[in-house]
Parts: sequence; structure tokens; C-alpha cells
Amino acid sequence: MSFESLGLAPALLRALSEAGYETPTPIQSAAIPEVLAGHDLMAAAQTGTGKTAAFSLPLLHRLSSAAPRGDGRRPIRALILTPTRELAAQVQDNLRDYGKHLRLSSTVIFGGVGMGNQLQALRRGVDIVVATPGRLIDHMQQRSVDLSHIDVLVLDEADRMLDMGFLPALKRIIAAVPAKRQTLLFSATFAPEIKALAQQFMREPREVST
Ligand code: AMP
Repeated sequence: MSFESLGLAPALLRALSEAGYETPTPIQSAAIPEVLAGHDLMAAAQTGTGKTAAFSLPLLHRLSSAAPRGDGRRPIRALILTPTRELAAQVQDNLRDYGKHLRLSSTVIFGGVGMGNQLQALRRGVDIVVATPGRLIDHMQQRSVDLSHIDVLVLDEADRMLDMGFLPALKRIIAAVPAKRQTLLFSATFAPEIKALAQQFMREPREVST
């Protein structure tokens, strides 16, 4: 199995080769074709398996191949939720790296720092937002973020988000994104609470595990 055979855009293949990635990890081989085909996906994957690229690569591919909007506006089209600021920052680093030959922008939103830079980035317009749930809710309350054009929603480390008490926040956020979207859920385990979340918010998800 190669990244080429997964059907990823040449600009992504170039970034991967520059990053020294030679072959997809098992979770990448299993997840990438499902995401490219537009399916919802539940993936059981621990940190260190290459899970970030498993959702980031097909996400970047899909956003970069969508036709630009005729009105020149640039709404947020993908939202990635993570349990911690460290993970959010790390995911955005990876997105930047994999997407360096694409014309897509991303920003990261988390608590514990001022709102100023985040407000500025949101006002300028970004394609992808990586966020922790609590601070994203703050932005929703002050109407500084518009989630009404989200095509792809990613819940990264969903089990940890539930462990940290983010279920009410997740429900509010999911209620604010369009029902017609693609949802990707990554979790170390498929505990009953995770299954319940998927049952409620996902459409016929494909399941992959490593
Ligand atoms: P993650 O599980 O997303 O935290 O990724 C673990 C580490 O593996 C990160 O440092 C990635 O840069 C790296 N990585 C992910 N996919 C690959 C791959 N296909 N080949 C080599 N390294 C990779």
C-alpha cells in the first residue's frame, strides 16, 4: 500500500515525501479511502498510530478539491475538536505541514490565552478550525465564530473529551453545525458512551480499528 494508491492529491503526496513518510500506517490505509469516499467514520486508534494524518490528509484533500465559492467568501468548512490545547496545537502543526502546498488556512482556538489573536484569525477567515470545546463555546456565545458552513467535523480523542466532561459542550457544538456533514470520530476505545455518541450524531459510520 502506498500514499499514491490511496488517491491523495499530488500536493499532499509531495508534502508527505518531504516529511519523510514512505508508507501509510495501518490506520491510514484503512481510514483514508473511507473518508475520501465521503463516509462517516469511527476509528479506534491510540496516539502514535498516525491517527492525525489518517483524518488530516483526506480532510485536506476534500477541502482542496471542492469548488471555490462564487461569492468570494471564505467560511469555515472543517472543525476539528480535541480534548486539550496541546493536542489542538499539535494537530494544527500537522495540518500546516501536510497542507503546505495547498491554499488552505487553519487556526487553533483554545482556552487559557487571550481572545485577541483568535478573534483576528477568525475575522480574516479560515478554512479549518482546530479547537478545544470550552473556548469554542465562548466564541459561539460572543458570535465570533460561524459554524453554519461546516462540511467535515472531526472528534479527535473522543473518549478523552467525554472523560473530561465535555459532553454538554460537544452537544451544543454539534447542534450548531449543519446536519448534512461528514463526521469522523477517533477514540482509543469504543466504550458504550462513545457508541451512544456515534449513534446520536453520525450517519451509518464505517468502523475501522488497528
Ligand atoms: P499520531 O498518532 O497522529 O500522534 O502520529 C504519531 C507520529 O507518527 C507523528 O510524529 C507523525 O508525524 C508520525 N507519522 C504519522 N504517519 C506516518 C507515516 N505514514 N510514516 C511515518 N511517520 C508517520
